[in-house]
Amino acid sequence: MNQNLQQLIANISKFLREEAYPLEHDFLQQPFKELVPTLEAKRALVKAAGMWTPHLPKEYGGLGLTLSEFARVSEELGRTPVGHYLFNCQAPDIGNTEILIAHGTEEQKERYLLPLVRGEVRSCFSMTEPEHPGSNPTWMSTTAIKEVSDYVINGHKWFTSSADGASFAIVMAVTDADAPNSYKRASQIIMPIPNDGFTIVRNINVMGEPGSDYASHAEVTYTNCRVPQTNLLGQEGAGFKIAQERLGPGRIHHCMRWIGICERAFDLMCDYSAKRQLAPGVFVGNKQIVQEWIAESRAEIDAARLLVLDTASRIDEQGANATRQNISMIKFFVAGILQKVIDRAIQVHGALGLTDATLLSYWYRHERGARIYDGPDEVHKSVVAREALRKFGLDL
Ligand SMILES: Cc1cc2nc3c(=O)[nH]c(=O)nc-3n(C[C@H](O)[C@H](O)[C@H](O)COP(=O)(O)OP(=O)(O)OC[C@H]3O[C@@H](n4cnc5c(N)ncnc54)[C@H](O)[C@@H]3O)c2cc1C
Repeated sequence: MNQNLQQLIANISKFLREEAYPLEHDFLQQPFKELVPTLEAKRALVKAAGMWTPHLPKEYGGLGLTLSEFARVSEELGRTPVGHYLFNCQAPDIGNTEILIAHGTEEQKERYLLPLVRGEVRSCFSMTEPEHPGSNPTWMSTTAIKEVSDYVINGHKWFTSSADGASFAIVMAVTDADAPNSYKRASQIIMPIPNDGFTIVRNINVMGEPGSDYASHAEVTYTNCRVPQTNLLGQEGAGFKIAQERLGPGRIHHCMRWIGICERAFDLMCDYSAKRQLAPGVFVGNKQIVQEWIAESRAEIDAARLLVLDTASRIDEQGANATRQNISMIKFFVAGILQKVIDRAIQVHGALGLTDATLLSYWYRHERGARIYDGPDEVHKSVVAREALRKFGLDL
C-alpha cells in the first residue's frame, strides 16, 4: 500500500471511530429515517474533510482511486454499518454512479448522476422479478415498448433495494423479446420517481427487518410508466452487458465491505474471549475450541483479502470481462467466510450475541443475503467449476 493510501485509510479509520461508531447504538435501535438528520451532518463532515465519494474519478469530485485502492477503503468503511453511507459510496448508488459515468449521455449525467454524486438524492436498480429467477436475468417479463418518443414500461419487480425515497430507478426491461441472442433482449432505462403508474407495493420484511428508505427492499409495479426514449442507458439491448460490467467492481465493493465486517466481528470475538470468565481465572479464550475459531477466522479473513485484492488488480489491469472466474470465486468464497466469522463471534458471546448489545446479531440477519444477492453461491461455483473442467475437455 502506498503512503498516500495508508494516510487516507488512517484518516478514515480515525473519522469512523470518532464520528460513526458512536452512532451504532442508535442505528440498531431506530428506524433509518430517524437517524437521517444526524447522518446528514456527518456526511457534511466527510465532504469538508475531502473524503467524499472516494470511489469516483477526480473530475466527479472523487479521490480518483483505482479499484484496488478503493477496495482498501471499502474494507475500512465496512467495519461499521453506516460507513459506506457516510462516504456516499453505498449500494445501490455506487453501482449506478459507475454505470452512469460509463454509459450516460451528457444530459443523463447532468440530471441523474451529478445530484447522486453530491449526495442530494438516492437511486435504485430494478431488475429482479418475483415471477422469474433472478439468477437467470435473460428471462424476465417487464417490457419497455416504444410509443412515439417514449418508452412505456410495464412490469413487476421485487427486492428493488432503496426504492423507497429514491429519485430515480434504473429499470431492466425487455425491449426486443425476439432478439435471437437472449442476452440482447433487455435494456436499462432511467425512470424518474415519482412516475404515474409506478407503485411501491410494500417494503419487504427481510429477516425480521421491516425496512424503509435506504434500507428498503421494495416490491414495485410499473403500469404504463412513460419515460422519454432519451432515458435509455447505453445501447438498446445492452442491458445485460451493462449489468455484468456493474457487477464486476460491485462484487469487489461487497467483498471488501464483508471483510471489514469480518475484522470487526473478529475483534469483538477476541475481546469477549479475553474478558469473559467461565470460572474464576478461566476465560472463554482459554478454551481450545475458541482458540481454533480465532485461528481459523484469522487465516480465512487474511486469505479472503488477498484473493479479493488480487481480483481487483486483475480488473484494474484487464477489465471485468477477463476475470469472470475470479469474480465468481471471491463472491461465494468471501460470503461464506463472512457467515462463519459472524456465527463464531456470536457463539463466543453466548446469549449476549443474540441481543442488540453488539452489531453481531444485526450482521447475522443482514448479511445472510450475501450468499444470494448478486448471484447465489451455486451460480458462481458453477462458473468456476465450468472454467476448470473446460481445460480438461468437458465443455458444459
Ligand atoms: C438483500 C437483497 C438485496 C437485493 N437487492 C436487489 C436490487 O437492488 N435490485 C435487484 O434487481 N435485485 C436485488 N436482489 C435480488 C437478487 O439479485 C436475487 O435474489 C438473486 O439474483 C437470486 O435470484 P432469486 O432470488 O430469484 O433466486 P432464484 O434465481 O429463483 O434461485 C433460487 C435458488 O436456486 C438455486 N440456483 C439458482 N440458479 C442455480 C444454478 N445455475 N445452479 C445451481 N443452483 C441454482 C440457488 O440455490 C438459488 O438461491 C436482492 C436480493 C437480496 C437478498
